[in-house]
Amino acid sequence: MKVQRSLMRQSLMTTLAVTGAALALATIDIQAEDKMNQTEPKKTAGTKVPLKINFALLAEQVVSARESDCPRRPIPGIASTMPTNTSTFETKLKYLDKAEVSAYWLYGFRSAEGTMRDIGLLKAAKQKLERLGKEAYIVCEPVGHPNRNQKTLPARGWRHRINCDGTPDYGCADIEKKLVRDLVAATTAFRDAGFKKVFFDDDLRLGNWGTNITGCFCKACIADFNRRQGTRYAREDLRRFVRNPGKHAAVCEQWMDFNCGKVTAFMKAVNLPGIQVGIMVMHNGDRKHGVDLPAILKAVPDCLVRVGEGHFNDAGFDPPGGKASLIASLEMHKAIVKDVSRLYTENTVYPWPKLRPENMAKKLLIEVEHGLRNIMLMPPQLLDAPEYWEAIAAVLPQAKAMGGK
Ligand SMILES: [Zn+2]
Repeated sequence: MKVQRSLMRQSLMTTLAVTGAALALATIDIQAEDKMNQTEPKKTAGTKVPLKINFALLAEQVVSARESDCPRRPIPGIASTMPTNTSTFETKLKYLDKAEVSAYWLYGFRSAEGTMRDIGLLKAAKQKLERLGKEAYIVCEPVGHPNRNQKTLPARGWRHRINCDGTPDYGCADIEKKLVRDLVAATTAFRDAGFKKVFFDDDLRLGNWGTNITGCFCKACIADFNRRQGTRYAREDLRRFVRNPGKHAAVCEQWMDFNCGKVTAFMKAVNLPGIQVGIMVMHNGDRKHGVDLPAILKAVPDCLVRVGEGHFNDAGFDPPGGKASLIASLEMHKAIVKDVSRLYTENTVYPWPKLRPENMAKKLLIEVEHGLRNIMLMPPQLLDAPEYWEAIAAVLPQAKAMGGK
């Protein structure tokens, strides 16, 4: 085994030494492979999984300026809802506890902000949450919010994903060596600060929602693809291929392998010893969007997975077709992961506050009915909206009665 791995290392290093980016990813792959050999995936088949309510928010919302002098970085738009005194978070626990929120996920890195959030403040929030008897974990937005009109500039030195027509996708960063390096560094800091779980959220993908084959068509990615394949395709060729996948099935498979490889390599890279990582899978996300869930689970056997995104406002949720689409995507990804103890829901409100509290509660019931037990609630504004927690608290007995299917 040792010899085999050593040979594999050598062969990987030799094969991939031609490109700096590939070398960086390959080196990280080997680290992840080492971890994979150290840790056994949790065996939970047949075990009843209890219902668990999770909530993602900012460290600033947990720890007041009086409790910590670490730098604070509110998100524009919700600054006015930030707690202003030391008792505020504790006061809000009255309704959060009624909804039985037991795990709090602190935003640690948002690509739109450029750098990781202050580790001192994250640690202070973790300590406070644990003192209050809660669990504290980290959630990151690694490639950007999936809204091509949002124009969030990715972090320093990163680049946007490029569509097949050459236009940039302002809602998605390209997964290249700088992005991987920055997120591995941040994840290392979270791990060293004692955080045991890190979710990589907000549709970690390399493409657009929909039925087209996507990926990153920037010059560097096309050159890398050509180097690996021994081809000389231009963007126009690739565009023609992905728009006629029936005619160009083989090259389309290679293109999807190439893009999926980047997302999978990213998840392996951040899967550091001592932590459990998770990916949020885009609604209906699959190989066409760079998301090869079976490959990710092979690379990161204990990976957490968020499923079922979409339907985060009344317009999307209310029509019967909306609910059916939620269930179809959820079931598709659940069938791949199987272990419900590692599946998390995607309950959010966007744009704020366009999902009625009763619809958030209804969505939760649909998810539980379809076997999900870890409920993940967003966005941070929810902290100051007791009506949502009251709606959730009201359906908890029903959700618990459904049991773990
Ligand atoms: Zn690219």
